[in-house]
Amino acid sequence: MSVIENYFDFISVVRPLLTWYDQNARVLSWRENSSPYRVYLSEIMLQQTRVDAVKPFFDRFIAAIPDFKSLASCDETTLLKLWEGLGYYNRAKNLQKTARIVVEQYNGNLPSSYESLLSLPGIGEYTAGAIASIAFSQKKAAVDGNVLRVFSRLTASYADTKKKDVKNYFREKIELIIPDDRPGDFNQAVMELGATVCTPNGMPKCLLCPLSELCKSFKNGLATELPVKSTKKARRIEKKTVLVLIHNQQAAILKRPERGLLPFMYELPNFDGWLTKDSLSDLLQSFGIHFSSINQLENAKHIFSHVEWHLEGYLVHVTTPSLPEKCFWADIKSINETYPLPSAFRVYRKKLFELY
Ligand code: SF4
Repeated sequence: MSVIENYFDFISVVRPLLTWYDQNARVLSWRENSSPYRVYLSEIMLQQTRVDAVKPFFDRFIAAIPDFKSLASCDETTLLKLWEGLGYYNRAKNLQKTARIVVEQYNGNLPSSYESLLSLPGIGEYTAGAIASIAFSQKKAAVDGNVLRVFSRLTASYADTKKKDVKNYFREKIELIIPDDRPGDFNQAVMELGATVCTPNGMPKCLLCPLSELCKSFKNGLATELPVKSTKKARRIEKKTVLVLIHNQQAAILKRPERGLLPFMYELPNFDGWLTKDSLSDLLQSFGIHFSSINQLENAKHIFSHVEWHLEGYLVHVTTPSLPEKCFWADIKSINETYPLPSAFRVYRKKLFELY
């Protein structure tokens, strides 16, 4: 089934949902002052990232880069350093591309129309709908996984929420019921309900839900079966050996390529595959690197959307300053303060700072 067959009175959810939101909305900095820049920044940060994880990054970012003009002119390393730990680093690159367009073409003001927002780098249908409704009070839906889960359960729909026509169906239905006076609050209320009550894993908190009397899944005991989502392709597994090379209170790092995963970030030297201590020793010598010790570190795993890195690490105390091409020595303190290292390396980065 790809369209929803059950009758549901969509308009009936609006008032109980808004009343619940008024009493239960989480206090978030970007809600206290919802200027277009703050709404835009929060929505980009919230792509693929939980609210609790975004909070400290948002406040730090706003303090350092308070508007589109400063974002447009900010240097790349500072920008990526502020983004370090949030992941999906292309978002930071798109942020700056958008800021430059906003400054050059819109006099520093984010455009308010849904279509103009959609044309900006890194803004898809969901984000354009969220910004248009929250920052500019437009009656545009913002339909993400949270919203699809809530409405699939409310309507007891077994339609596959990964399908475009199902998403479009719910978007059209939602746009018909968005209230004139509170479009942004309505969208945020649905998202909030999905994040805190109609939750994805395990049993949703139906007894606390303001919509339980209207909910077909609650009435029929179907909540944990829904929504239906066609399964994703399995992630590709990549094995890597990460080196923490230390010499005179410095560590070896290098810049990642401009294309592909984690563009423009810095990283610790690493090789494809898992190397034994003996093969690593041979490899280092082939690069002319001499060392006094090699110690194995704990394993780590980092999950990206389509790839998983399974990492083994070694701590190597180097006695000569030579390094492979592109690597350079950086003061360990400066790695913490200046160079953006993605969280994929957090286990080995932590080791680095434990040592000094
Ligand atoms: Fe979700 Fe339960 Fe509320 Fe239905 S009653 S919308 S399943 S939390």
